[in-house]
Amino acid sequence: MSAVISFPTKTDEIISYNPATGEEIGRAANASAEEVKEAVERARQSFQNWCETSFKERAKFIMEAREVILAEMNEIAQLISTESGKPIVEALSMEIAPVLDLMQYFARNAQKILKPEKINIGQLKFLGRSSKIIYQPLGVIAIISPWNYPFSIPLGEVVMALIAGNTVVLKPSELTPLVGLKISEIFAKVDLPENVLQVITGDGQTGAALVESAPDKIMFTGSVATGKKIASEAAKNLTPVVLELGGKDPMIVFEDADLEAASSAAIWGAFCNSGQSCSSVERLYVEESIAEKFTKLIVEKTRKLNQNLGSDATTDIGAMISENQLKTVEKHVADFKRSGAKILTGGRRNENYQGTFFQPTVIADAKNEMRGMREETFGPTLPIAVFKDEKEAIELANDSDFGLTASVWTKNLRKGKRVAAKILAGTVCVNEVLYTHGIGQTPWGGFKQSGYGRTHGKLGLMELVAPQHIHVNRYTVLPNAWWFGYSENALETFRGFARYFSSGSLFQTVKLTPQMLKRVKELRKK
Ligand code: NAD
Repeated sequence: MSAVISFPTKTDEIISYNPATGEEIGRAANASAEEVKEAVERARQSFQNWCETSFKERAKFIMEAREVILAEMNEIAQLISTESGKPIVEALSMEIAPVLDLMQYFARNAQKILKPEKINIGQLKFLGRSSKIIYQPLGVIAIISPWNYPFSIPLGEVVMALIAGNTVVLKPSELTPLVGLKISEIFAKVDLPENVLQVITGDGQTGAALVESAPDKIMFTGSVATGKKIASEAAKNLTPVVLELGGKDPMIVFEDADLEAASSAAIWGAFCNSGQSCSSVERLYVEESIAEKFTKLIVEKTRKLNQNLGSDATTDIGAMISENQLKTVEKHVADFKRSGAKILTGGRRNENYQGTFFQPTVIADAKNEMRGMREETFGPTLPIAVFKDEKEAIELANDSDFGLTASVWTKNLRKGKRVAAKILAGTVCVNEVLYTHGIGQTPWGGFKQSGYGRTHGKLGLMELVAPQHIHVNRYTVLPNAWWFGYSENALETFRGFARYFSSGSLFQTVKLTPQMLKRVKELRKK
């Protein structure tokens, strides 16, 4: 029996459009609060059995789902590209391939990562005590996801939640519901037990209903504004939340960098997915001595980019997701112009297409106080500012409310690592940009307004379990010195504990033996 529920249309529908053409490509249910509550209830019931399954059994479903994706790779890539506007190459390179790697990694390694851990409790172990941590699944995980990586972000989190023994209710973005439903179809094909994964489509209100229905944890990826609403609503039930929010990521290029590589990385980091990545290069800081040469390289390379429909294999830059998103970019570009920055190439909507295409845009003379250097643009713009020395580069990069990722470019790796450690961001790359969300083994998450908690890697898996401490006493024949029967003798014993035992040194603790024996004798008599 197919196990995964996709909601029937009980309320109104959401319509999915191809942003490159404006054509309708399908419809999905706009689930009501009642339907969401029922889904969470079903997930809670199915948790009882699912959490009893072994890692091996759970891994089997994930590896089979991986095979389904491999078999349908081209159709899935086509769907991602059509619904989000991104080039089909990026649907494969930035979504399908990395998430397939993440799936095999967690299927093969979750048990090892979550194996019980012994804790060294110091001298208490000589009294027959031991402690360990075991990792329990949490229960029902609510995943609320955005449209910009509509396949890899939710699927990666679904896989991590399931392998840890949780059940999942996923609400994909209302702009990409069909890709969300594809995830449920994939798991239905491998007969995942009933209600272990449910995908409910709907808008922000459906998401809000999911938060209100008190799941055991919320994994949210999206804007700062929505993240704040979710954190505040979740607090009413004390539901823990991981917030993966926006970014305004800086790239620092020193004069000793490989300028060929750095310029190619800068335009890819700024313009891939039409600049709609949380970790897009949104601020480029270049050392004064190479600024002119480097900017020229960037402009030359940008002018060669091919902007076209995402379905064409040679397209570098496709459509943006929506008119709203495009308007934000227009506002930022207009503000750059007004504030004295120069548009070197691009700067407007690409009128050759019906859909929401914005030309890749390079901006010189940007300053940190300009709007497009402070707020997330989330579009294909690359503003360039200049710095004099290392200290100023670090100050400019850190002068932001966000702290998701950053990059430092220099051939001097010692300098690169030194600067990286001074940047306030969850991930800092030396001579690389943007791509580490694609390395499932590494943690992903931000500082400051970019959110809290982590996804991916060991730290991300730990977000999806409750660490439980198990403490054992093997010698119950001896009464504890701290139990009732308080006396002058007890006082003296604990003065000794403070002086000797708490030093952490067995050599000191031995001095306590006569007093301990007196105390035990006293307790035995009582
Ligand atoms: P968004 O905040 O508008 O929506 C994200 C999700 O939240 C959607 O599914 C939406 O329906 C839902 N939602 C909206 N209102 C809600 C509410 N009140 N309660 C519960 N759910 C609600 O974000 P978006 O436009 O889809 O995504 C773009 C943003 O996501 C950008 O800011 C980007 O930087 C960020 N993002 C961050 C990461 C990261 O890993 N840090 C990754 C991708 C995108």
